[in-house]
Amino acid sequence: MPNPLPHRKPISPSFWEMDMELSLTKHASNRPRKVDLFIVGTGLTGLSVALRAMHHNPSMKIIVVDQLPINQTLASTRNAGFACFGSPTELLDDIKNHGKNQAIKRVHQRQEGLNYWNQKVGAQAMDYHACDGMEVFTNQETAAYHQACDAIESLNDLVGRACYHTAQAPGSFHHAIRIQGEGSLHPGKLRKALINQLLQGGVAFLDNFTCPPKAEWLQDDKGWNISDSNHPIHAKKVVIASNAGSKQLFPSLNVVAARGQLLMTEVIDNMPYPGIYHADKGFMYFKQWQGRLILGGGRNLFQSEENSTSTQVTANIQGHLDDYLNHQLFPNNAIAVSHRWAGSMAFGEQGEKTPIIQVMDQGVVVACRLGGMGLALAPMVAKEALTLLDLDA
Ligand SMILES: Cc1cc2nc3c(=O)[nH]c(=O)nc-3n(C[C@H](O)[C@H](O)[C@H](O)COP(=O)(O)OP(=O)(O)OC[C@H]3O[C@@H](n4cnc5c(N)ncnc54)[C@H](O)[C@@H]3O)c2cc1C
Repeated sequence: MPNPLPHRKPISPSFWEMDMELSLTKHASNRPRKVDLFIVGTGLTGLSVALRAMHHNPSMKIIVVDQLPINQTLASTRNAGFACFGSPTELLDDIKNHGKNQAIKRVHQRQEGLNYWNQKVGAQAMDYHACDGMEVFTNQETAAYHQACDAIESLNDLVGRACYHTAQAPGSFHHAIRIQGEGSLHPGKLRKALINQLLQGGVAFLDNFTCPPKAEWLQDDKGWNISDSNHPIHAKKVVIASNAGSKQLFPSLNVVAARGQLLMTEVIDNMPYPGIYHADKGFMYFKQWQGRLILGGGRNLFQSEENSTSTQVTANIQGHLDDYLNHQLFPNNAIAVSHRWAGSMAFGEQGEKTPIIQVMDQGVVVACRLGGMGLALAPMVAKEALTLLDLDA
């Protein structure tokens, strides 16, 4: 039996986790031991898999488990809530590193994923705001801005619609490019709406269940026996949507945990940044939420320290966020911080950000490594995972 990951009790819950209530108590008696589909991970990937499978076959017996209590995840309840599909510099970088086809495919998948949430959950339930995104540049980044501007027309052609436009720079920035179609949402509310739909459809949940490594599962002629110390489960098919925890289940996977940290300010009068913003080539990001600012990033400055499934905040990164807040974003004001939290993402060893969706054994698929894009990508990753199991609607 593996030791539970060392983040069982997050030191600092995220704003989203504190802002919502979730309980499984009244559904506890409802948990089957024999299921058609066993899903590990109650993040957005695991929940998307469950929702698509439930729609594919409403009578299928499905259980979704997580090592954490039901209102927590490693990333899906601890992110920034950007409903985004790619800033110009991110897209240019992806084209350079992965080629045009791969980069554009990902933009389209992210747009489709966001449309999926809109259809299945709706803007109101996930507190969605169609604010558009903005990539912002300081005066030291004028060359990068001009390079991005020169590419706007060809990027719009590649994406297939006019998403990118030059815009007036907000606050202390010198240049900006608007990203039409991006937005902002409450990831906790999105997840709660999904869980409620799934419970209504008869999908069972089991929290505080640590799935053992694949090497410890037992196969029989009908599927897999997978147990923690309290709950033996037999499953015909399995989807592992454990993202940053995936290496513990499959040590051979090219998955590296990557902590991301955020802070949230008190309400700011005359907020100069009303939408969602990508800065410093995507290494910094911030957004307005209910008059407060959520700011994250800086992982690139402390990379080895940040390759961790820990959800504790650290002085290094939080100090960097404080500096950015008080020197770059609000050079003339002292801004009070009300919340700080961290989550754990998954990338590849060389920073790969293409998700892993692959068959690991008979009836067993892994769907993980969603990088910093999972809010938008999860529904499409889930679709591919279920296709591999012949289960997608
Ligand atoms: C600080 C931060 C900011 C981010 N901002 C954004 C953003 O603005 N927009 C965006 O699109 N993306 C963002 N992301 C990325 C996004 O949150 C993730 O890509 C997405 O949530 C991944 O979803 P998931 O379901 O695959 O993983 P998770 O949400 O991590 O869910 C996986 C679950 O599997 C569970 N698990 C792991 N191992 C086991 C095991 N052995 N047994 C049982 N359970 C297990 C974990 O406890 C976890 O809850 C951000 C991430 C962070 C950390």
